[in-house]
Amino acid sequence: MRLSRYFLPVLKETPAEAQIASHRLMLRAGMIKQSAAGIYSWLPLGFKVLKKIENIVHEEQQRAGHIPMLMPTLQSADLWRESGRYDDYGEEMLRITDRHGRDMLYGPTNEELITDIFRSYVGSYKDLPLTLYHIQWKFRDEIRPRFGVMRGREFYMKDGYNFDLTKEDALHAYNRHLVSYLRSYERMGLQAIPMRADGGPIGGDYTHEFLVLAETGESEVFYDSEVTDLTFGDREIDYDNVEQCQGVLEEFTSRYARTDETHEEALFNEVPEERRRTARGIEVGQIFYFGTKYSEAMNATVVNDKQERVPVHMGSHGIGVSRLLGAIIEASHDDKGIIWPEGVTPFHVGIVNLKQGDDEADAACEALYKSLTALGLDPLYDDRKERAGGKFATMDLIGLPWRITVGPRGLKNGVVELTCRKTGESEELSPELAVQKVAEIYAGI
Ligand code: ATP
Ligand code: MG
Repeated sequence: MRLSRYFLPVLKETPAEAQIASHRLMLRAGMIKQSAAGIYSWLPLGFKVLKKIENIVHEEQQRAGHIPMLMPTLQSADLWRESGRYDDYGEEMLRITDRHGRDMLYGPTNEELITDIFRSYVGSYKDLPLTLYHIQWKFRDEIRPRFGVMRGREFYMKDGYNFDLTKEDALHAYNRHLVSYLRSYERMGLQAIPMRADGGPIGGDYTHEFLVLAETGESEVFYDSEVTDLTFGDREIDYDNVEQCQGVLEEFTSRYARTDETHEEALFNEVPEERRRTARGIEVGQIFYFGTKYSEAMNATVVNDKQERVPVHMGSHGIGVSRLLGAIIEASHDDKGIIWPEGVTPFHVGIVNLKQGDDEADAACEALYKSLTALGLDPLYDDRKERAGGKFATMDLIGLPWRITVGPRGLKNGVVELTCRKTGESEELSPELAVQKVAEIYAGI
């Protein structure tokens, strides 16, 4: 993309309404624009990152054997009356009446809809196990939408639902989700720690929230510092292997790590004092096993091998896709702007032409742009007639992890400069080597 032809409405001033870094930076970098309280338009740069995150979630869910689909945002109230949640959900549910006077709602989540789909088509244990998921907009009429996309009213969420014959099978689905979530967050450059959580209205002992540690997080968390040493890395996993998935669960959840809702001081005090940590965290996902709660209420049953009709065991699993942009920025920025991890960056590399209009510099930038693009990379070329300082400030603000700077002086010596956004370190290289280096960085991503 050439910046002169792109739509990147960066702001010079820091918007007064934004209280935390991620919200400020998303507004300043021209990623989002508020359209009503807690409701945002996703401008091109923000949309690009949103799609990258969504794509990682899709890939990791499908790797785990989970099946993508799409359910609507608007739902009929009838199904929610059946489950009993139409009244329970309260004011967070946005209720709408259509022209025929029928009660509708903008879905805050999809347990009812998916259970209805399941019971309409599935009747035998032979069709199980089954895990369906979608990534769709949700609406929750939050009392205090704030912090930009972190706590919106309209937000983008992946929600998945498993249907299993037995509790053991459903717990395997739970463990598969835990593994796939760990992999997803790591690919986004994030450490999200699974913490024992509260089942809330869904109930059940089996639920973990995934928290990204950040001072601006809304949850208070308590953990054994050893949990921050754990990484999933690129190890091979067989998602059908029950013991292997269970092993990952034990490895990542056996140490003390809880949110304030489940915190137990006495248990926490058994952790050696020098490893006890209290901090704040951002919830970026949650997994649940809730047994037969919905299947019993909504009559979602299958016939087992003894010809008995039994309710299926279910779980639901959510990732806050739009909230993740805020969480990633909270975890990765400095006073100049965002620092995108390579896995989610909107463009792979920025090209800054220090002297637009200089024949040699223009030609070198064009050549770089073409070779990067030919390799399947996505560069952002700042080809505007602007001062160098302004161009650097924009690149730093929007946070591309790598920048190639091209100027007449360097070109006389046959070099351009490759700069890492995170460390600020630069090296001079021939344009060919710079391209090669950028390609190598992204080879495994
Ligand atoms: P919270 O406790 O933050 O209100 P929740 O526990 O009610 O969230 P879930 O139903 O578990 O949320 O939804 C799954 C994920 O969706 C959450 O882990 C979070 O990342 C994201 N999410 C929930 N509410 C919002 C919101 N208002 N804005 C943006 N993302 C949200
Ligand atoms: Mg939650």
